[in-house]
Amino acid sequence: MEKISKEKIQAGLEVIKNLRDSKLITHLNSCVRCGLCADTCLYYLSTKDERMIPAAKVDLVSSIYRRYQTLTGRIAPALSGARSMDDEHIREMVDLLYGACTMCGRCVKHCSIGVDIEYVIRAGREMLARMDHVPESLQATVDAALETGNNMAISEEDFLDTLEWMEEELQDELDDPGARIPINEKGKKILYTLNPREPKFFPLSISAMAKIFYAAGESWTLSTRMYDVTNYAYFSGKPEHNRIIAQRMYDEMEAMEAEKLVLAECGHGSRASRWEGPNYIGRPYPETLSSIELMADYFRQGRLRADKALTPERLTLHDPCNLVRSGGVIDEQRYILSHVSDDFVEMHPHGVDNFCCGGGGGQLAMGEYNDRRMKIAEIKAKQIRKTGATVVVSPCHNCVDQLSQINFTYKLNVQIKTMAEVVADALVIPER
Ligand code: SF4
Ligand code: SF4
Repeated sequence: MEKISKEKIQAGLEVIKNLRDSKLITHLNSCVRCGLCADTCLYYLSTKDERMIPAAKVDLVSSIYRRYQTLTGRIAPALSGARSMDDEHIREMVDLLYGACTMCGRCVKHCSIGVDIEYVIRAGREMLARMDHVPESLQATVDAALETGNNMAISEEDFLDTLEWMEEELQDELDDPGARIPINEKGKKILYTLNPREPKFFPLSISAMAKIFYAAGESWTLSTRMYDVTNYAYFSGKPEHNRIIAQRMYDEMEAMEAEKLVLAECGHGSRASRWEGPNYIGRPYPETLSSIELMADYFRQGRLRADKALTPERLTLHDPCNLVRSGGVIDEQRYILSHVSDDFVEMHPHGVDNFCCGGGGGQLAMGEYNDRRMKIAEIKAKQIRKTGATVVVSPCHNCVDQLSQINFTYKLNVQIKTMAEVVADALVIPER
């Protein structure tokens, strides 16, 4: 790592000097070192490395705060556990705040006094980002989104080819040449988004959702200009990048004159767009909901009907942290599964207490931490194996990717599916 300049250190320190962020200052001063968060974090549980305890990650940031923003820290740093922002400390921050946290928020739920550990870690990432210390692999993902409009740099031509191919598949499956994947159609009820992994690696999930829209008789469209539901700047730590991506989504909603924005199956994408996006751009989004809530509504309204006999396998469900623990979408996915299967088994623990798959926080984009990522995934592998399920459903493409790698590494012999795929396979299509 290159020696860091004084100017860059000052830029990083601006984050903790921002006294308007009273939440950050409060949480930097709150940890009582009870240690209760240790056994909630999949990094510490998997490694027993004390540097991986959530409170130790908080201390990487709060020790800097104490050194530069408190009197005792300035005159007697050793007495107050204050640390200087030097090369060694920055190296440790990069390794632990980027490379040993999926920003799953599980520790926050278990903290004895409610320290928002994830928020502090995010502030630490912002400090590093201001000092140009975002891991290159993660920054490359953000740059691709900024430069091309999607994080996988898929060209418009390739995207359109994939959609055309999926539309043909849909028409063949439904035996209806009128079945469509609408593109850039203004004034539709729904503007639907995708995770770029779908057109790149899992195009069948696009036709699965199109089949669901077809069965529900929905008015919807995709946009070629802005369809990427993800916002990896949420993980890299640069607020100005967050803002650009969030603004693009808002602008596309306006341009397409759609009534609702429906977010594809993506945990962090739904959090970044729905809950954080309005904060980034300083105004509310139009009506925004996840495709999981939409599908649950279709079943509630009788617009979708499924035949459970078409799902003979035992299913289990992986709860994506950002959709469930941080996003409050907890019961809808279970309600949907109650329509498609009679053999559903919960993992233990599940819901808001579920363990992260290990792929969150930008981990899947940071290849340098792959070995660590697969090691912490053993917890998820054990959870899955205990259920006896042969299909793991997860309403997040990021989780699906990580779960597929867990499946391979830990030889689980299960299938990993999105919710749209499971629902589409079990649908009873109404006569048209
Ligand atoms: S947010 Fe998750 S990964 Fe990060 S410290 Fe807390 S429990 Fe560990
Ligand atoms: S549980 Fe909360 S207060 Fe206790 S050590 Fe962890 S962060 Fe600090």
